[in-house]
Amino acid sequence: MSFIPYAQHTVSQSDIDAVVAALKSERLTQGPLAETFAAEVAQYCNARHAVAVTNASMGLIAACHAAGVAREDWVWTTPNTFAASANCARHCGARVDFVDIDPRTFNMSVSALEQKLVRAAEQQRLPKAVIPVHFAGQSCDMQAIARLAREYDFVVIEDAAHALGGAYLDKKVGACEYSDMTVFSFHPVKSITAAEGGMVLCNSAELYQRLQDVSRQGVVRDSTRFLNDSDAPWYYEQHSLGYNMRMTELQAALGRSQLHRLDEVITERRRLAARYAELLKSLPVQLPELDAAAKSAWHLYVIRIDFMTMDKDKAAFVQSLAKDGIGTQVHYMPVHLHPYYQLQGFTMGDFPVSEVYYQQALSLPLYPGLTDEQQDCVVAALARQLVG
Ligand SMILES: *Cc1c(COP(=O)(O)O)cnc(C)c1O
Repeated sequence: MSFIPYAQHTVSQSDIDAVVAALKSERLTQGPLAETFAAEVAQYCNARHAVAVTNASMGLIAACHAAGVAREDWVWTTPNTFAASANCARHCGARVDFVDIDPRTFNMSVSALEQKLVRAAEQQRLPKAVIPVHFAGQSCDMQAIARLAREYDFVVIEDAAHALGGAYLDKKVGACEYSDMTVFSFHPVKSITAAEGGMVLCNSAELYQRLQDVSRQGVVRDSTRFLNDSDAPWYYEQHSLGYNMRMTELQAALGRSQLHRLDEVITERRRLAARYAELLKSLPVQLPELDAAAKSAWHLYVIRIDFMTMDKDKAAFVQSLAKDGIGTQVHYMPVHLHPYYQLQGFTMGDFPVSEVYYQQALSLPLYPGLTDEQQDCVVAALARQLVG
């Protein structure tokens, strides 16, 4: 049996044909495909606007800029995420703080958020923006976060890198019903891929404009917005400082082609997750819990094992699984434990729920294309390790 990775993309013949067609087209970048892809994702999610960008990390930076995040501002996110969810704020010069997770969903805890907001209001250091992350594809409690956003006046940016295709209260994640902006990733491990790629969705025309500006070097080509008079055909103006975050036509061609199968991908991920739940129920592991309001996109299947009580070393456990041909991963080492954030003043013990979770969490292989036989092998290898 060949090695079973924890994640694996799929590329179909029609994906390849779409990319080849883009390669043979007149434009490799700044063509029609990136805009079409953005419009299609916006339509899928029922959001008004979307901007296609190079990747979600840049998308988060664009969103922070559009939100007006600047020096001296505070931005809060969860420790249980990829570093990009926090780094975006640092790139805008802002200070980062974290809100510990809910021990059941591993998403940002709304009660911890509320308590922290009460204290921050007293100290006059309320956040400019909060970035909840829909961990493993399951939406955060966005209605409650939106209520706090109104009360404490912060911008909500959903890091939905895990959650394209998921839903919350019967609306697709990305509809921005309870947030200002939503960011998706098209990295190969995510729901669908564009090799690299990201997208920022919003409903506000003003945010859309700012997202476009910041992702296009702050350059304005719409003559109705020009500050100076010019009829010259080559004329454009730079109004603000931005970046080049353009998605190429090749990326967009791949993403568009993959978008056709998004619902199938989610259905298959859901089926495999339900199958894991059935196969694993007699093992001494804790299974992911589902929130009734959210329909997960099942980006990850995270089990928890009480390694400490079982007197097992987690690294050795992962290594023996790898020897048995089973790839696993750990999502995530809490962001505040990275040396970069320790230098910002965070230490072990700051976010204990995330830290305990990190000791126990293990992501099992989950992707369309994982066969039932392979899944049986994963469970058998776990059973050998756990119950001998
Ligand atoms: C993958 C990921 C990102 C970054 O996405 P890229 O497209 O690789 O830049 C950001 N946040 C989370 C939670 C992710 O999983």
